[in-house]
Amino acid sequence: MEDTKSRFKRICVFCGSSSGKKPTYQEAAVELGKELVERKIDLVYGGGSVGLMGLVSQAVHDGGRHVLGVIPKTLTPREITGDPVGEVKTVSDMHQRKAEMARQADAFIALPGGYGTLEELLEVITWAQLGIHRKPVGLLNVDGFYNSLLSFVDKAVDEGFISPTARRIIISAPTAKKLVRQLEHKSRYTYKIINNKK
Ligand code: AMP
Repeated sequence: MEDTKSRFKRICVFCGSSSGKKPTYQEAAVELGKELVERKIDLVYGGGSVGLMGLVSQAVHDGGRHVLGVIPKTLTPREITGDPVGEVKTVSDMHQRKAEMARQADAFIALPGGYGTLEELLEVITWAQLGIHRKPVGLLNVDGFYNSLLSFVDKAVDEGFISPTARRIIISAPTAKKLVRQLEHKSRYTYKIINNKK
Protein backbone atom coordinates (compact mmCIF):
# COMPACT_ATOMS: atom_id res chain seq x y z
CA MET A 1 0.00 0.00 0.00
CA GLU A 2 1.32 3.42 -0.91
CA ASP A 3 2.41 5.72 1.90
CA THR A 4 0.19 8.79 1.49
CA LYS A 5 1.74 10.72 4.38
CA SER A 6 3.88 13.47 2.93
CA ARG A 7 6.82 15.28 4.44
CA PHE A 8 5.49 18.43 2.78
CA LYS A 9 2.99 20.50 4.71
CA ARG A 10 2.32 22.96 1.94
CA ILE A 11 3.26 23.15 -1.73
CA CYS A 12 3.33 26.28 -3.88
CA VAL A 13 1.86 25.83 -7.36
CA PHE A 14 2.64 28.16 -10.25
CA CYS A 15 0.34 27.81 -13.26
CA GLY A 16 -1.43 29.56 -16.08
CA SER A 17 -4.01 32.24 -15.45
CA SER A 18 -5.42 30.79 -18.70
CA SER A 19 -6.75 27.25 -19.07
CA GLY A 20 -4.78 26.27 -22.18
CA LYS A 21 -6.30 24.83 -25.34
CA LYS A 22 -6.07 21.12 -24.56
CA PRO A 23 -8.31 19.50 -21.92
CA THR A 24 -5.25 17.57 -20.69
CA TYR A 25 -3.91 20.79 -19.12
CA GLN A 26 -7.11 21.33 -17.18
CA GLU A 27 -7.25 17.65 -16.20
CA ALA A 28 -3.66 17.85 -14.95
CA ALA A 29 -4.50 20.87 -12.74
CA VAL A 30 -7.40 18.99 -11.13
CA GLU A 31 -5.30 15.82 -10.83
CA LEU A 32 -2.53 17.76 -9.06
CA GLY A 33 -5.08 19.26 -6.67
CA LYS A 34 -6.43 15.80 -5.85
CA GLU A 35 -2.91 14.42 -5.36
CA LEU A 36 -2.19 17.14 -2.79
CA VAL A 37 -5.43 16.29 -1.00
CA GLU A 38 -4.60 12.58 -1.00
CA ARG A 39 -1.22 13.31 0.56
CA LYS A 40 -2.72 15.83 3.03
CA ILE A 41 -0.74 18.72 1.59
CA ASP A 42 -2.04 22.32 1.69
CA LEU A 43 -1.77 24.74 -1.23
CA VAL A 44 -0.27 28.18 -1.66
CA TYR A 45 -0.73 29.87 -5.02
CA GLY A 46 -1.21 33.23 -6.72
CA GLY A 47 -4.84 33.56 -5.64
CA GLY A 48 -7.96 33.85 -7.75
CA SER A 49 -10.06 31.55 -9.85
CA VAL A 50 -8.89 32.23 -13.39
CA GLY A 51 -7.52 29.48 -15.66
CA LEU A 52 -5.55 26.56 -14.25
CA MET A 53 -5.11 28.53 -11.01
CA GLY A 54 -8.85 28.26 -10.40
CA LEU A 55 -8.95 24.54 -11.17
CA VAL A 56 -6.11 23.51 -8.90
CA SER A 57 -7.27 25.69 -5.99
CA GLN A 58 -10.88 24.50 -6.27
CA ALA A 59 -9.76 20.85 -6.27
CA VAL A 60 -7.66 21.33 -3.14
CA HIS A 61 -10.42 23.31 -1.41
CA ASP A 62 -13.09 20.74 -2.37
CA GLY A 63 -10.87 18.03 -0.89
CA GLY A 64 -10.84 19.83 2.46
CA ARG A 65 -7.24 21.02 2.49
CA HIS A 66 -6.20 24.60 3.27
CA VAL A 67 -5.77 26.97 0.33
CA LEU A 68 -3.77 30.18 0.70
CA GLY A 69 -3.91 32.67 -2.17
CA VAL A 70 -1.37 35.49 -2.13
CA ILE A 71 -2.62 38.43 -4.18
CA PRO A 72 -0.91 41.78 -4.78
CA LYS A 73 -3.17 44.82 -4.21
CA THR A 74 -3.12 45.69 -7.92
CA LEU A 75 -4.65 42.31 -8.85
CA THR A 76 -7.39 42.28 -6.22
CA PRO A 77 -10.23 43.52 -8.50
CA ARG A 78 -12.43 40.52 -9.12
CA GLU A 79 -12.46 41.01 -12.89
CA ILE A 80 -8.69 40.40 -13.00
CA THR A 81 -8.38 37.47 -10.64
CA GLY A 82 -11.88 36.09 -10.14
CA ASP A 83 -13.27 34.90 -6.82
CA PRO A 84 -10.62 33.10 -4.81
CA VAL A 85 -11.36 30.10 -2.59
CA GLY A 86 -9.91 29.63 0.90
CA GLU A 87 -7.74 32.17 2.69
CA VAL A 88 -6.54 35.25 0.84
CA LYS A 89 -3.49 37.25 1.84
CA THR A 90 -3.15 40.65 0.20
CA VAL A 91 0.40 41.93 -0.28
CA SER A 92 1.75 45.23 -1.58
CA ASP A 93 3.35 44.11 -4.85
CA MET A 94 4.41 41.23 -7.11
CA HIS A 95 7.83 40.90 -5.45
CA GLN A 96 6.33 40.57 -2.00
CA ARG A 97 3.89 37.99 -3.36
CA LYS A 98 6.66 35.77 -4.68
CA ALA A 99 8.63 36.06 -1.46
CA GLU A 100 5.53 35.20 0.59
CA MET A 101 4.58 32.22 -1.60
CA ALA A 102 8.16 30.93 -1.36
CA ARG A 103 8.31 31.43 2.41
CA GLN A 104 5.05 29.58 2.99
CA ALA A 105 5.88 26.49 0.90
CA ASP A 106 8.03 23.38 1.41
CA ALA A 107 8.25 22.67 -2.33
CA PHE A 108 7.28 24.21 -5.68
CA ILE A 109 5.42 22.79 -8.67
CA ALA A 110 4.85 24.44 -12.04
CA LEU A 111 1.95 23.35 -14.20
CA PRO A 112 1.76 24.62 -17.78
CA GLY A 113 1.45 28.40 -18.04
CA GLY A 114 2.79 31.52 -19.73
CA TYR A 115 5.15 34.35 -18.85
CA GLY A 116 4.00 34.63 -15.23
CA THR A 117 4.47 30.93 -14.58
CA LEU A 118 7.89 30.89 -16.26
CA GLU A 119 9.05 33.91 -14.31
CA GLU A 120 7.97 32.41 -10.97
CA LEU A 121 9.49 29.03 -11.83
CA LEU A 122 12.83 30.43 -12.97
CA GLU A 123 13.11 32.60 -9.90
CA VAL A 124 12.72 29.70 -7.44
CA ILE A 125 15.22 27.67 -9.52
CA THR A 126 17.67 30.59 -9.37
CA TRP A 127 17.16 30.92 -5.61
CA ALA A 128 17.87 27.18 -5.22
CA GLN A 129 21.02 27.58 -7.30
CA LEU A 130 22.18 30.39 -5.02
CA GLY A 131 21.41 28.35 -1.90
CA ILE A 132 18.68 30.79 -0.75
CA HIS A 133 16.39 27.80 -0.19
CA ARG A 134 16.67 24.00 -0.31
CA LYS A 135 13.09 23.30 -1.35
CA PRO A 136 12.56 20.96 -4.29
CA VAL A 137 11.25 22.35 -7.59
CA GLY A 138 9.07 20.25 -9.87
CA LEU A 139 7.87 20.67 -13.42
CA LEU A 140 4.60 18.96 -14.31
CA ASN A 141 5.43 18.25 -17.94
CA VAL A 142 1.89 17.63 -19.17
CA ASP A 143 1.91 16.19 -22.71
CA GLY A 144 5.52 17.32 -23.13
CA PHE A 145 4.53 20.98 -22.68
CA TYR A 146 7.91 21.79 -21.13
CA ASN A 147 10.10 19.69 -23.47
CA SER A 148 11.40 22.75 -25.32
CA LEU A 149 12.26 24.52 -22.05
CA LEU A 150 14.11 21.41 -20.82
CA SER A 151 15.99 21.21 -24.17
CA PHE A 152 16.95 24.85 -23.78
CA VAL A 153 18.25 24.21 -20.25
CA ASP A 154 20.24 21.20 -21.54
CA LYS A 155 21.74 23.42 -24.26
CA ALA A 156 22.71 25.97 -21.61
CA VAL A 157 24.45 23.12 -19.72
CA ASP A 158 26.27 21.99 -22.91
CA GLU A 159 27.34 25.57 -23.59
CA GLY A 160 28.66 26.05 -20.06
CA PHE A 161 26.05 28.46 -18.67
CA ILE A 162 24.33 26.07 -16.27
CA SER A 163 26.31 23.56 -14.21
CA PRO A 164 25.25 19.88 -14.30
CA THR A 165 24.56 20.18 -10.55
CA ALA A 166 22.25 23.15 -11.07
CA ARG A 167 20.53 21.25 -13.90
CA ARG A 168 19.46 18.67 -11.34
CA ILE A 169 17.45 21.30 -9.43
CA ILE A 170 14.63 20.79 -11.94
CA ILE A 171 12.64 17.62 -11.37
CA SER A 172 10.17 16.83 -14.12
CA ALA A 173 7.50 14.18 -14.51
CA PRO A 174 4.46 13.70 -16.76
CA THR A 175 1.91 13.11 -13.97
CA ALA A 176 1.18 14.66 -10.59
CA LYS A 177 1.57 11.34 -8.78
CA LYS A 178 5.02 10.66 -10.23
CA LEU A 179 6.13 14.24 -9.70
CA VAL A 180 5.13 14.47 -6.03
CA ARG A 181 6.78 11.10 -5.38
CA GLN A 182 10.02 12.34 -6.97
CA LEU A 183 9.92 15.59 -5.01
CA GLU A 184 9.50 13.60 -1.79
CA HIS A 185 12.48 11.46 -2.72
CA LYS A 186 14.61 14.51 -3.52
CA SER A 187 13.60 16.15 -0.25
CA ARG A 188 14.54 12.99 1.69
CA TYR A 189 17.90 12.81 -0.09
CA THR A 190 18.70 16.49 0.51
CA TYR A 191 17.71 16.10 4.15
CA LYS A 192 20.14 13.18 4.52
CA ILE A 193 22.96 15.23 3.01
CA ILE A 194 22.25 18.15 5.33
CA ASN A 195 22.20 15.79 8.34
CA ASN A 196 25.47 14.15 7.29
CA LYS A 197 27.12 17.56 7.19
CA LYS A 198 26.31 18.21 10.83
P1 AMP B 1 0.66 33.31 -16.62
O1 AMP B 1 1.47 32.04 -16.69
O2 AMP B 1 1.29 34.42 -17.43
O3 AMP B 1 -0.79 33.10 -16.92
O4 AMP B 1 0.76 33.82 -15.12
C1 AMP B 1 0.34 32.99 -14.11
C2 AMP B 1 1.15 33.23 -12.85
O5 AMP B 1 1.31 34.63 -12.64
C3 AMP B 1 0.39 32.67 -11.66
O6 AMP B 1 1.13 31.62 -10.99
C4 AMP B 1 0.15 33.89 -10.76
O7 AMP B 1 0.98 33.87 -9.62
C5 AMP B 1 0.47 35.11 -11.61
N1 AMP B 1 -0.76 35.71 -12.27
C6 AMP B 1 -0.85 36.06 -13.56
N2 AMP B 1 -2.07 36.57 -13.86
C7 AMP B 1 -2.80 36.52 -12.73
C8 AMP B 1 -4.15 36.89 -12.38
N3 AMP B 1 -5.01 37.38 -13.26
N4 AMP B 1 -4.55 36.69 -11.11
C9 AMP B 1 -3.71 36.18 -10.21
N5 AMP B 1 -2.44 35.83 -10.48
C10 AMP B 1 -1.96 35.99 -11.72
